[in-house]
Amino acid sequence: MRLAMISEHASPLAVLGGEDAGGQNTHVAELSTALAAAGHDVRVYTRRDSADLPGTVRMLDGVSVVHVPAGPAEPIAKDELLPYMDEFGRWLAAQWQGDNWVPEVAHAHFWMSGLAALTASELTGVPVVQTYHALGTVKRRHQGAMDTSPANRVGYERDLGRTVDRVVAQSQDEVRELIRMGVPWSRMTVIPSGVNEQNFSPVGAVAYRGDRPRILSVGRLVERKGFQDLISAMRLVPEAECVIVGGPPPEQLADDPQARRLRALAETYRVADRVCLVGAVPREEMAQWYRSADVLVAAPWYEPFGLTPLEAMACGVPVVGTAVGGLTDTIVDGLTGDLVPPRDSRALGLALRSLLDDQVRRLGYGTAALDRIRDHYSWRRAADQLTAIYAAVSGVRRPSRVVA
Ligand code: UDP
Repeated sequence: MRLAMISEHASPLAVLGGEDAGGQNTHVAELSTALAAAGHDVRVYTRRDSADLPGTVRMLDGVSVVHVPAGPAEPIAKDELLPYMDEFGRWLAAQWQGDNWVPEVAHAHFWMSGLAALTASELTGVPVVQTYHALGTVKRRHQGAMDTSPANRVGYERDLGRTVDRVVAQSQDEVRELIRMGVPWSRMTVIPSGVNEQNFSPVGAVAYRGDRPRILSVGRLVERKGFQDLISAMRLVPEAECVIVGGPPPEQLADDPQARRLRALAETYRVADRVCLVGAVPREEMAQWYRSADVLVAAPWYEPFGLTPLEAMACGVPVVGTAVGGLTDTIVDGLTGDLVPPRDSRALGLALRSLLDDQVRRLGYGTAALDRIRDHYSWRRAADQLTAIYAAVSGVRRPSRVVA
């Protein structure tokens, strides 16, 4: 099939460039690769954010990335992109109408891409599959006045869910959230992200480590990722070290306000000699960090999906995570890791202490984690499930975009 992936702010090329790209960039890159491996012809459409970018880049056999002119050709924060989505969608429609490459399905990633895809769909009849990646309701609940999303985001997300041909949710928690928003259950299918088992496996190089038990945590240094709770929890595991990977490149770490805040906190709790901030690590080096860990901690306050637990599990590493969002699906409590309440550094510290004291349980969790990844979280499996959805929605012209 000819498949259009619409990812307005998250280019899959950022992943290959080794930048500290977020989960959506990785998701779109891996999914497109798996769909191409399954024989599909994939074009990823992302916003042109630099005048220097070529119109189209061939990412690999079967996947090309098209830079869509929508708004100024310069970096713009994703929450500021809404005014350009109509232009984005019209450009897509013009391409598909003028070209002999018309997709059979457009799969939109993030709600703004969904709006652009629907605009294109109205003009061309191409059916739309929607993956949200994150929901405005959840963001607003957790960030309150700090949420910089456009004011009417939740309304747009609801309308999208009622209008597109299929909603692909990534977790049961997201399904519950969408139902509460008013998106009919019958329109949804759960297909979780996968993990690249070639890049993330128990065998391979291991990052340098000393004798102390290593607790690893990975992610952007934003408050909701809960690194402050982990640093606080380190008081309960006095023999262990805590390594935090992510954030700005190592050379910029000293000036980064979030990194300074975390370091100051470690000083306050008198754990600074056991807490190490590494900074951004290129994607291809991530597996060695996971392999170096006795346990991965993922302690977000909320998390739409969360790739880092999956990557650790694929390396055979047990995960202690907070019971939020996608983590409640990926981590099986008492089988592949432990779930603790969010923002509860004491519960986190006690769970870590108990797990670090029990090597047999750690090995058991690690082995079960590997099995779970193989059974449920391969990109190939995700591509197969999506292929069935694409086949079901394609060829069916959408009757109208009237929202019930
Ligand atoms: N990552 C990376 N280098 C880093 C930190 C993170 O390559 O220094 C990757 C990590 O391996 C994962 C992604 O960035 O694939 C983060 O995805 P996640 O879903 O955990 O969080 P998001 O950033 O989307 O909120």
